[in-house]
Amino acid sequence: MIKILDDKTIDKISAGEVVDRPLNVVKELVENSLDAGATSISIEIEKSGKKLIRVSDNGHGMNKEDLVLSVQRHATSKIDTFDDLSTTITLGFRGEALPSIAAISIFDIKTQETGSDSGWHLSIEGSKQANLQPWAGSGGTIVEVKNLFFNTPVREKFLKSDTTEKAKIINCIDEIALVRNDIDFKIISDGKTLAQYQKTDSKIKRIEDVLGRDLSKKLKYINFNHPKIDIEAFVSTRENSLAQRNAQYLFVNSRCVNYPKWLIHSIYQAYKQATPIGRHPAVIMFLKSNPSDIDINVHPTKREIKFAKENEMYELFYTFIKGTVESDEPSSIVNVKSGDEKEQINNNRYNYKPNYIPNRDVSVSDYKNLYSSNIGQAHIQEELLQSDEYKFIGQIFSMYIIVERYNMCYIIDQHAGQERVKYEMFSDEVQNNTLDIQQLLIPDVFELQGSKSIVLKNSLTIFNKLGFTLEEFGGNTFRLTSYPALLGGDVSFIEIINGVIEFLEEEKSAQVQEIQEVIIQIACKTSIKAGDILLDKQAVQLAKELFACKMPYTCPHGRPTMYKITREELEKFFKRT
Ligand code: ADP
Ligand code: MG
Repeated sequence: MIKILDDKTIDKISAGEVVDRPLNVVKELVENSLDAGATSISIEIEKSGKKLIRVSDNGHGMNKEDLVLSVQRHATSKIDTFDDLSTTITLGFRGEALPSIAAISIFDIKTQETGSDSGWHLSIEGSKQANLQPWAGSGGTIVEVKNLFFNTPVREKFLKSDTTEKAKIINCIDEIALVRNDIDFKIISDGKTLAQYQKTDSKIKRIEDVLGRDLSKKLKYINFNHPKIDIEAFVSTRENSLAQRNAQYLFVNSRCVNYPKWLIHSIYQAYKQATPIGRHPAVIMFLKSNPSDIDINVHPTKREIKFAKENEMYELFYTFIKGTVESDEPSSIVNVKSGDEKEQINNNRYNYKPNYIPNRDVSVSDYKNLYSSNIGQAHIQEELLQSDEYKFIGQIFSMYIIVERYNMCYIIDQHAGQERVKYEMFSDEVQNNTLDIQQLLIPDVFELQGSKSIVLKNSLTIFNKLGFTLEEFGGNTFRLTSYPALLGGDVSFIEIINGVIEFLEEEKSAQVQEIQEVIIQIACKTSIKAGDILLDKQAVQLAKELFACKMPYTCPHGRPTMYKITREELEKFFKRT
């Protein structure tokens, strides 16, 4: 039987869409305070917001009529028509937050409009309007949300531990505080002041308050003005990479969003030569573009963002971050005016070409197409493949192999070179489902530390896809029965697996293609090291394999694999021409 739901039930259902944890309430209320022009916002929570959330601001407040309207569905002061939706720059505009929150809590607003000498107090208990009375307070608004989910116990069951919910709330306020340095924030939890950020003109001062001085003093400032987009960013220098990915924030028109995959990719590429494997740059970036401009599109409630011309933007970000990272200046400011973009970019020192052709979702299978679509590289590769004749000259410093080939002398970094070879072979086999798997004669049984064991349990499929047949063997013990044959038998698989787990542990918020990165890790860990003495035969084999690669000139981390000297260069140097 079809039934029409009553209003209260509808309210409760739609409340769940806006509010599924205390964090959402805090965020909506703080955003309302910001929209009301507040310059000081205090957030108090008890029991991680489950018992109480109180947000007080000194914004413009509401008069009696607006107060009553504010808790009704689709009541908003922020837009009048559908057309406004694309141009609105306020944070909330659907008029849904207050009624949704009021439907599932003991709800209370006290507010006084600017210019008025008294205010109003409205209490609601689970959608039932309880009371409206005058309030002798001060300018601004205080919203109190008590016993959240008291009438929707199912929802409450899904909440995480108090610590987790509290951490989420603090992270959320920190994100807002990072971009709104013009506002005083205070966070109080169970009576204790956890943070107090004083308003400041300086973005870096606020970064220091929120993320700590250790980090802030290592950052470089960049400002890039482009006709389509203004970028301000604070980035770590090459000496100051981090072990974790926890200092990467992206704000678009003052809203914190997730880095799109292609953008994080472009940033990591720009850092490649500067950041050691497994380390991460700090990148706190503020983008501004006209909201009606279709170039950036932010979903109003989600954290996803879309750029119209991602390929163009990829290159722009790559160029500008790489330029900054590689310069010794403490800050760089670049202005690109309309019309002469190309020229300006090429005329300053930010003239770098990325190794990758940008693509939104770079997967293993795309990876090689990306490389081979680079026309210049393809041309050189052809030239290399034409001739098979080469002469092995020797190995120097137990690190480099020297090869003569086709009027050129190549100095090959043996580690980087082999990384490239293994990476391509491995990716090829995985991609074409031709992975050659070698059974272990005696299975390897090993035990991991608790946290590592969790990571491995969660990533068994990745390992299995890559040819490691791994199974749980009780507790934190695992059993390895096979491995990818191309790795050879004389490496320590436990060490490789451990290395990959460590990498995955750090990648909690990873936005990169996991499997591709894991292949890179494995290729690196199983390659000959600098210092390994090679037999002539091995060196020749390596050179041969490297020249046969699709992208022989860089290792998968982006570092060069070889240095080339042409016959002409030598002749010029020795003044023979
Ligand atoms: P939205 O923010 O999408 O408009 P809300 O339900 O969050 O919808 O709020 C409804 C209305 O209540 C807002 O449009 C605003 O006019 C008013 N309001 C909410 N919070 C405040 C506040 N802290 N100060 C002043 N006005 C507020
Ligand atoms: Mg709102």
